[in-house]
Amino acid sequence: MQSIEQFYPILNQPFKAVITAHQKPDGDAMGSSLALFHFLKSLGHDVTVISPTNWAAFLDWMPGTNEVIDFEANKEAATKIIQEADYVFCLDFNILHRTKHLEPIIKEAKAIKILIDHHQQPDTPSFGYGISDVKMSSTCEMIYDFIVQSGHSNLINLDIAACLYTGLMTDTGSFRFPSTTASVHKIVAHLKELGLQHSTIHEHIYDNSTEGRLKFMGNAFLNRMQVFPALKTAVMAIPKTDIYKFELKTGDTEGLVNYLLSIEGIKLAAIVIDREEERKWSFRSKGNFDVNIFARTYFDGGGHANAAGGNSKKSLEETLNDFKTIIENYKSQLTQLK
Ligand code: 5GP
Ligand code: MN
Repeated sequence: MQSIEQFYPILNQPFKAVITAHQKPDGDAMGSSLALFHFLKSLGHDVTVISPTNWAAFLDWMPGTNEVIDFEANKEAATKIIQEADYVFCLDFNILHRTKHLEPIIKEAKAIKILIDHHQQPDTPSFGYGISDVKMSSTCEMIYDFIVQSGHSNLINLDIAACLYTGLMTDTGSFRFPSTTASVHKIVAHLKELGLQHSTIHEHIYDNSTEGRLKFMGNAFLNRMQVFPALKTAVMAIPKTDIYKFELKTGDTEGLVNYLLSIEGIKLAAIVIDREEERKWSFRSKGNFDVNIFARTYFDGGGHANAAGGNSKKSLEETLNDFKTIIENYKSQLTQLK
């Protein structure tokens, strides 16, 4: 993989590009994709954002979402666009299988793939150009740097600012995680100087719940949560029946795992959700319990040191029991966490 700087001169020649991100794109995946989309379009390129799957409705307000193609709903058209692209930008994921059913299509496409990402252990040989930096707060921070360092700071308009702010805000837990560096605040200061209305974005993302979602959360805390104070661990298992009963939609369980970490003394939080094709795990930690390694070792997943995800093909009950057995083996490490 050549460095991203090597790509900057190519920005001056017209090309056809596809931008994609991980399945079920979150605020950072969608924000970085759309910020790059607006930027490349303003340079005159032919650009399409293709999401591997649908996304949460609370992202629909973002400028450009109406032009994003959901691969699962438009397989033929999306495949053709990828086959004809010169470049495929891969944002906010480290390995192509995070694009689910898009993986073989991207792999077989003639396009040169470009990686811009902040997850651990990237599959760099699959990409022609790119940058992977785990110290970055978000892929949106990296897209900001890409625009500025390639000499196009003047092209950051309010649409781009809103998209970038979304990923910066969501991936830093509203600017409170340790990844929130001085650079992050400087970027936000720049976006504010351009006229960014940050409070509207917080409302779009966080004040958009249905009544059912709040009832679901109440039920989850009351009936689905197990806390193991001696292990400094809390876990929640969400059965399919809850998803149907409270009419949950894509994105409605996002952020729930963070509440478990708000319990005093809890350093490891985990949620497993009974999805159609698999049991999907989310892990969060405080301090130096590395959930990326944990998810990789036991649940076929990965991510960051303090936020990772994984999968299991076993039943909800079996995978929850696996988790409980595994953490017993980490007792000495967990109890020492400060
Ligand atoms: P979340 O728990 O919010 O779904 O994901 C937490 C972090 O881990 C995100 O950065 C996400 O991209 C990553 N992640 C989630 N699931 C997986 C997975 O199955 N494999 C890998 N490699 N990363 C994951
Ligand atoms: Mn991210």
